[in-house]
Amino acid sequence: MYDVIIIGAGPAGGSAGLITAKAGKKTLIIDNDKSITKRAWMENHYGVAEISGPDMVELGKKQIKKFGGEIIQAEALNITKSGENLTVETDQGEFQGKHVILATGMSVALGEKAGVRTKAGTEPRVKSVYDVDADGKTNVEGIWAAGTCAGVSMHTIITAGDGAKVAINIVSELNGERYVDHDILK
Ligand SMILES: Cc1cc2nc3c(=O)[nH]c(=O)nc-3n(C[C@H](O)[C@H](O)[C@H](O)COP(=O)(O)OP(=O)(O)OC[C@H]3O[C@@H](n4cnc5c(N)ncnc54)[C@H](O)[C@@H]3O)c2cc1C
Repeated sequence: MYDVIIIGAGPAGGSAGLITAKAGKKTLIIDNDKSITKRAWMENHYGVAEISGPDMVELGKKQIKKFGGEIIQAEALNITKSGENLTVETDQGEFQGKHVILATGMSVALGEKAGVRTKAGTEPRVKSVYDVDADGKTNVEGIWAAGTCAGVSMHTIITAGDGAKVAINIVSELNGERYVDHDILK
């Protein structure tokens, strides 16, 4: 049983997973390795002089694993409710979690299959996005969305920030109080 299962290991899902794993929450990231970030080169991510998309994603995965987050390469096929929990069906088996974050980039097919409401996208080339509230919640209890698929501007600092925001909200719900992750300069 995972506290949080994240679908997608791009900047949005990866950043969410880093926050939840570092908060000590049992975290699984499922990714089918089709991130558009693999084609990107960044010179506009604050605090990073320049970095390739693949390097950003790989570095993110290392950060997540450092804090005990698990990452598997698989295709998520459906999400169903099982009591209070959610079951994510993949081509590598089933996984159960208390919360699921959809961070599926340009695709909303998975969430639509699971009954998550979508709406028209406003960003260039983004046809549909999940209809989320300000916290990142969808209409299906326990399913959240972050990044491109949640309608934010397609820039790594924004999609990553959105993933972090949603993760902080989930950790806060799990802890029963607002959560802050601040390390102090050693
Ligand atoms: C050519 C190009 C250049 C760019 N240049 C810049 C730039 O200079 N600066 C900048 O800030 N941004 C740039 N971007 C945009 C940036 O890459 C995006 O904002 C950001 O990567 C989107 O992050 P994301 O996590 O929302 O989506 P993604 O990175 O697409 O991640 C989504 C992940 O979900 C996975 N997934 C989807 N469905 C499933 C499923 N059913 N099961 C399992 N996994 C699934 C995908 O494989 C993918 O890994 C560029 C993009 C492109 C394409």
